[in-house]
Amino acid sequence: MDPVTFPSEHFFDLVVIGSGPAALSVVTRILESRPAALYTEEEHTHLHWLRKNGKDDSVRSSKNKTSTKDAKRPLLKTKSVGRGNERVIVPQNTNEQSCQCDGSIRILIIDRLGEWMANWDRLFGIYQIPHLRSPLFFHPAPADIDALVAFAERKGRMKVQTPNDHQDKVRRTSQDGCPDLIEVPGCVGKEISKHKRKKRAQQPSKRMGDIVNERDRRDYFTPSTKLFHDFIREDCIKRYGLDNEGKPWPNAKEAFQQNDEPDKRIQFVRGEVTNLDWTTLHISGWEKLQGFSVELNDGIRIAAKAVVCAGGPGATPGVPEYLTNTTDKTQIVPSGPGWCHSTQLGMQGRTLPPLPLQRRIKDKQPSSMVVIGGGLTSAQICDVAIRNGVEDVTLLMRGYFKIKPFDLDLKWVARYANLEKMRFWQEDDPQKRLEAMYAARNGGSITPRYAKLIKQYQQEGKLKIMTCTKVDKAEWTPMNEDDQDEGECNASAKSSKGEDSGDESIAEDEIEIKETKQTLRPHYIISATGAAPKFSQVPFLRNIAKQHPVPEYGGLPWLTESLQYGKLPLFCAGAFSALQIGPGAFNLEGMRAAADRIAVRLQELAIGQEGEGDAESTPQQKSNNTQSVSQFTHFAYQHLPQEVEA
Ligand SMILES: Cc1cc2nc3c(=O)[nH]c(=O)nc-3n(C[C@H](O)[C@H](O)[C@H](O)COP(=O)(O)OP(=O)(O)OC[C@H]3O[C@@H](n4cnc5c(N)ncnc54)[C@H](O)[C@@H]3O)c2cc1C
Repeated sequence: MDPVTFPSEHFFDLVVIGSGPAALSVVTRILESRPAALYTEEEHTHLHWLRKNGKDDSVRSSKNKTSTKDAKRPLLKTKSVGRGNERVIVPQNTNEQSCQCDGSIRILIIDRLGEWMANWDRLFGIYQIPHLRSPLFFHPAPADIDALVAFAERKGRMKVQTPNDHQDKVRRTSQDGCPDLIEVPGCVGKEISKHKRKKRAQQPSKRMGDIVNERDRRDYFTPSTKLFHDFIREDCIKRYGLDNEGKPWPNAKEAFQQNDEPDKRIQFVRGEVTNLDWTTLHISGWEKLQGFSVELNDGIRIAAKAVVCAGGPGATPGVPEYLTNTTDKTQIVPSGPGWCHSTQLGMQGRTLPPLPLQRRIKDKQPSSMVVIGGGLTSAQICDVAIRNGVEDVTLLMRGYFKIKPFDLDLKWVARYANLEKMRFWQEDDPQKRLEAMYAARNGGSITPRYAKLIKQYQQEGKLKIMTCTKVDKAEWTPMNEDDQDEGECNASAKSSKGEDSGDESIAEDEIEIKETKQTLRPHYIISATGAAPKFSQVPFLRNIAKQHPVPEYGGLPWLTESLQYGKLPLFCAGAFSALQIGPGAFNLEGMRAAADRIAVRLQELAIGQEGEGDAESTPQQKSNNTQSVSQFTHFAYQHLPQEVEA
């Protein structure tokens, strides 16, 4: 095959596909010279991929020496060996920008929406989500695990409310009236932590700065959408010079035709990546080299030494057959007349409530909607629909109403989560890792705050909740020939428990199981039934998956520990890193961990560093540290010190 020729300004060290939190985590981590401690010192001694990093900034130790320049930088120290997650925060200077790669790496960030966090913002807007589900230490900022808490303190935005205080506001206000922090109930006892805080205040170590104990400061609160948004803008985007000087991202064609600043180290374009190939590149003024050819929808081609795929979960909506009317699993049917999958709500032209219902509300006609699914999204959809005037809303789920503060079991989120993760990393069998992941996530669940809200709607007669219910047939009758979405559905459902009485005093196993048949006649159905990741089905990855296959389990690629796709310098952050990172890969915290591994590996491969050696050799050939997925160092995690509460 003839080498593909590229003008030199189309050639980058690294192309990052996506602009969500996964991409932001990777880019900021590359640009940060003093990344925060993700692991304690004790854990660090057992995690070989951290030891591979020459600079080894992944773990901060109070024993680390710092230069005068470094001393000014944000610092997060492990207090001492054997003290679990305790760290000491030194307040950060947000205007200071630092860079692990000495500013030499050329990065191109490509996103079809053309703005940092655009997809996140859009979904939070559609579902009108006032607060994140995750705790304060889940965020993409690489410099400090407590960066979000520090930001809230710095800005005087530590206004806290309990869910009860906040309940009414949640129902009717915009995000402006929201408290910045909401307590997460049911994690750990507040009284204990208060007592501990008091005790700690008397300790001499206080003089060094605030003692940060995850139990005291991080586990109880989730940030408001607004606080998180402001934090991302200031402490991630602006701090690392990623705001494109306030200008909107140009589309790729414009950007390369105008070519105003060809030497700019970090560039941004709006565009959709349609294909990725590992091939021989011919760059004007360079020798031939192996690299990626990245094709965009407007015909532009980019050359790259390495690529980070952070394009989201690439998930295939799991739509029930009675809606798609097909048993062919290879066909993706995300919407049809009178229904859509929840992933479609983020698409242009879609609204919540859906347009046919909005018209009915405006014309003062009866409006009814069925939402299928037992996860947080289904509860959020019901909330938005009710608040926007849909008269008759039914929430239908095939199992019981599950309530959990986070989408992962608490042991994966809280204080000793690293212990749980290490158990996961010890497992060599990807299938078993997949099972552990399913167990940790344990299907969809609703946060206590939304559960309370939903139950309140039920008591007020605005919402019907049908648990343990499955729809077996749904037929759509359009009422308007011009608009197939206008009509009524005739659905029959079978409940193996019946309608939830809302009486919480009755234990689940005491409820009499009844089989009942019901008929529903909604004007619209939203299927919030989740979506399954499928790496090899992502359109721009199909070629790579075919030509350089790596095993897939549950639609997730079996990457190396450095999150590398086989031997290619292609990395995955976000959902596709889950078999290595663990169940947290789907959340903000896992993205930060993924970014750390990727940045270390890029450094190892000398991507973007001066004097990289001869152009013909691939980055793999340059690396003398060839990796295999089974290289993990086993250790006795049970001997890690644990702090026992008195
Ligand atoms: C409603 C909702 C609420 C959530 N709340 C939380 C929470 O509170 N805490 C938490 O930890 N997690 C939360 N999550 C989970 C997770 O953190 C988010 O889904 C997060 O947005 C995933 O980040 P990402 O960067 O992987 O993907 P995305 O945010 O989806 O970003 C992917 C980007 O890639 C771009 N892209 C995709 N394909 C291409 C292509 N071919 N070419 C160019 N660009 C492309 C897209 O335009 C998009 O901008 C939530 C998820 C949802 C859906």
